[in-house]
Amino acid sequence: MNVSELGEVMTSLGEPKWRGRQIAEAIYRQRIVDVEEISTLPKGLRQKLTSMGWRVGRPTVVQVFTSVDGTERYLVQGQLDGLTVETVWMPEGDEGETGDGLDGESEGGTEDRTGRKWDRGTICDSSQVGCAVSCQFCLTAKLGLQRNLTVGEIAGQVVAVLDRHGVEVGRDRVNLVYMGMGEPFLNYDNFMGAVRLLVEEVGLSPQRMTVSTSGIVPGIQRFAEEGPEIRPKLAISLNAPNDEVRSEVMPINRKWPIEQVVDAVRGVRLRAKERITFEYVLLGGVTDQPKHAAEVAGLVRRTGLPAKVNLIAWNPGPGVPYATPSNDAVETFRGALRSAGIPAYLRRPRGRDIYAACGQLKRTMEQMN
Ligand code: SAH
Ligand code: SF4
Repeated sequence: MNVSELGEVMTSLGEPKWRGRQIAEAIYRQRIVDVEEISTLPKGLRQKLTSMGWRVGRPTVVQVFTSVDGTERYLVQGQLDGLTVETVWMPEGDEGETGDGLDGESEGGTEDRTGRKWDRGTICDSSQVGCAVSCQFCLTAKLGLQRNLTVGEIAGQVVAVLDRHGVEVGRDRVNLVYMGMGEPFLNYDNFMGAVRLLVEEVGLSPQRMTVSTSGIVPGIQRFAEEGPEIRPKLAISLNAPNDEVRSEVMPINRKWPIEQVVDAVRGVRLRAKERITFEYVLLGGVTDQPKHAAEVAGLVRRTGLPAKVNLIAWNPGPGVPYATPSNDAVETFRGALRSAGIPAYLRRPRGRDIYAACGQLKRTMEQMN
């Protein structure tokens, strides 16, 4: 609930509306998890709320997988049904998300509750259970769309991870990527509702958040209307050098081809130094050849957008008919983009041993169910 919804609950109980603001401060800023501990509320009111069944919730972390590289993957469950999604914590971030000149260098480590050293981290958040977009290389696609996550579930995953690692918002350096399961722009209202809570109430910076979309044009158009004080950075899953290949690996391209997507992106008023990210999954033999790199460089240049390219070596999964690119192909691709003057970064695969790398999330779902 946002402040005005909390205020409405208060008025319906005959309390002043501003009590909603007090509750928001307690549950989002101080991250109090028990109604009884909201010390700004009179004791009688706390008891009344508890007896009425009001609770401060987080999605429940039902399972934790820890990688040798420090990545943690959580299977989290909302309150509505038994369905689970995945959230990932990557201490130290990764080059793809930090290599945009906005995040600075690391500065000394801090120790979290689990005793592990990290001085910055990245949280990967899910927006839907499954996904309706049929990208051929993605395991989440195989689930189909089971349901949208609620505002509370999208924001709650993040807060659960902040709690777990004792993150102090405002002091610790935390990036947030909406790159977990699902297509955020096909659950637009709940996605932006969660962003608003995380920015306005929890206190995270939208400049440290990146939302990734497969290119849902009406969603990008709405996103372009969001103000700079609330709008995360934007990443587009390009994943192919031209419309022909893109329509093969991402059938959604037949509906919204590259030029239409780029046109919609042009409507976003970028902040100083902000760049659009093009994500590019390298599929061995299919999209990782030198001729593809040359095409991508030309395509990105022609957009005229301040942009960078994040390269992701495809992470394999059962039943998906692609190959992981060779290290040589990946390095050559990045080199070709860079010599063409396009900033290109490599997303390190994180947590491969626990199947936490991009697109590998469904694998656990199968093991779980
Ligand atoms: N639905 C959104 C966000 C979630 S997917 C989108 O598609 O952008 C986040 C990123 O993971 C996308 O760039 C997608 O192309 C990438 N991805 C999906 N499956 C992958 C896989 N098996 N290996 C590497 N990257 C993958
Ligand atoms: Fe959905 Fe993104 Fe996977 Fe495509 S890559 S199926 S849009 S989660």
